[in-house]
Amino acid sequence: MIIAIDGPAGAGKSTISRLLADRFGWPYLDTGAMYRTVTLLALEQGIHPDAGPELGQLARNLEIGFQPGPGGVPRVFAGCREVTDAIRSQEVSANVSEVSAHARVREAMVAQQRAIAAAGDVVMDGRDIGTVVCPGADVKIFLTASNGERARRRRLELEGKGAQISQEQMEREIAARDDYDSSREVAPLKAAADAVIVDTTEMNIDKVVDMVSAIIREKRDG
Ligand code: C5P
Repeated sequence: MIIAIDGPAGAGKSTISRLLADRFGWPYLDTGAMYRTVTLLALEQGIHPDAGPELGQLARNLEIGFQPGPGGVPRVFAGCREVTDAIRSQEVSANVSEVSAHARVREAMVAQQRAIAAAGDVVMDGRDIGTVVCPGADVKIFLTASNGERARRRRLELEGKGAQISQEQMEREIAARDDYDSSREVAPLKAAADAVIVDTTEMNIDKVVDMVSAIIREKRDG
């Protein structure tokens, strides 16, 4: 089965997707990590985030790999170099929306994502999985939460890694990224018409995983 989990930054997509993949014994693909990897390499190579053709070429030639990591969090590789932590930097977060808005970058990433989906069962999270990458996905979930709650979760995640950021600044950053992702021309962030919308503001992780698992089982067994 193909399970598409879309939604804005900080809605809990990667945590929920990882736990679902674990529960059903399926692979998990974090498509945001792929766009982050392109962004990291572009920054390192001095390619400007508005340079579509150069970014497209970089994306096409990039081999992005995943391996199981500690605590179920996948390790991410660009070729044989590990970039798991580097792609979570604030500089990458601040530039990833602009980089991922380019059609040529998306074409290269979507081709890789579809090849993975064609191999069998997968839980994929992102912004355009249910609308563009796998419009025929068996289950489509659109996870959301209030801006304040999403900023709080991201802030706690960063604090766990030793970074300090105020709630206000975090809210500004994720609102800016959501605006950019929702208003771009190519594959904007939006719920597929047939997605189940799940607002996680008041739900804990277990409750969300149980709820989505029930939707998957119903589809699989029904
Ligand atoms: O999921 P995450 O927040 O790590 O994604 C980082 C960024 O990558 C998003 O803000 C968005 O700009 C881009 N992205 C995308 N399409 C996807 C996944 C992520 O454009 N399928």
